[in-house]
Amino acid sequence: MAPVNSSSSDNSPARRILVTGGAGYIGSNTTLQLLDAGYEVVVADNLSRGHRAAVDPARLREVDLLDTEGLVRVMSEKPLDAVIHFAAYIAVGESMKTPETYFHNNTAGSLSLLTAMIRTGVRHVVFSSTAAVYGMPTTVPIPESEPYAPVNAYGESKVMVEKMLDWFDRIHGLRSVCLRYFNASGADPDCRAGESHDPETHLIPLIFRAVQTGTPVTLFGDDYPTPDGTCIRDYIHVSDLARAHIVAVESLVKGGASKKYNVGTGRGYSVREVLQAVEAVTGKPVPYQFGPRRDGDPPTLVADSTRLQSELGWKPVDSELTRIVETAWRWANRKA
Ligand code: UDP
Repeated sequence: MAPVNSSSSDNSPARRILVTGGAGYIGSNTTLQLLDAGYEVVVADNLSRGHRAAVDPARLREVDLLDTEGLVRVMSEKPLDAVIHFAAYIAVGESMKTPETYFHNNTAGSLSLLTAMIRTGVRHVVFSSTAAVYGMPTTVPIPESEPYAPVNAYGESKVMVEKMLDWFDRIHGLRSVCLRYFNASGADPDCRAGESHDPETHLIPLIFRAVQTGTPVTLFGDDYPTPDGTCIRDYIHVSDLARAHIVAVESLVKGGASKKYNVGTGRGYSVREVLQAVEAVTGKPVPYQFGPRRDGDPPTLVADSTRLQSELGWKPVDSELTRIVETAWRWANRKA
């Protein structure tokens, strides 16, 4: 087996991490936390959906995931301890219109990244997976043992990468932690990074937009089998999510085995409850209307994240819904 490409022993805390998608929402928040914790970080991003301004130009490498040779060059600059792989398309609705884009960018793109890792001897990766791998779960809160059953192409594009990672571990000794995110939300409490997708598809920023513009937000479906008829999701603050990546990297560099973990709070909120939380935080009424269900949306997704808590000592500390909405509202009203 090729030697592990590693920049630091346990005596040297300055681990060097490659973050793909570091110009995006969760990637930029995690990069900030890695830097705060003393890591060296290089960001690989093609800026197709991320923001140039979110990354220090000195650490940005503009490279496409599908450009294996380009990734090999970046990985060969200096030894790396691990890759944290965020770069992906994330819109469930879009994935049900153009699934080819999702399998190309998310699945083939990840294969290209793993190939570059094997070629350069980098053997640790933390992978951005999703609750969408479960589809319509039979057990709620959802444990990691729930079978793969995605109901949208986005989820399937991630399942395929999780499965590739199992084979890359068996065959190449490439160890991975798959973090299955529930609903990433909120912003850095110091307002250094937050969510701004284009087009925006996520609930909380779209509710804010309705407050700011007066144009009603459309809530997708009021006839789900939930207490108030709207979908229930487990909203996890992006700072808690970022911390999960750091504990995952540490477990891998210390020799931990490949694992898959849910990252959520265990508490779900309905779309209506989120809307009410925004009204409470902003002090303003939210104009809204109901529309049809969105293709590929399961009624309820709530995480059982006890495995991550007990094995890696992670716990959510910023994910109370009011704090999520407050930090996100501050970000939405920041001065550019
Ligand atoms: N949602 C909605 N209107 C919107 C966007 C989202 O009603 O304009 C609902 C969506 O159907 C889901 C929840 O809000 O039940 C969270 O969706 P989001 O797109 O934020 O995250 P996802 O669950 O797709 O990861």
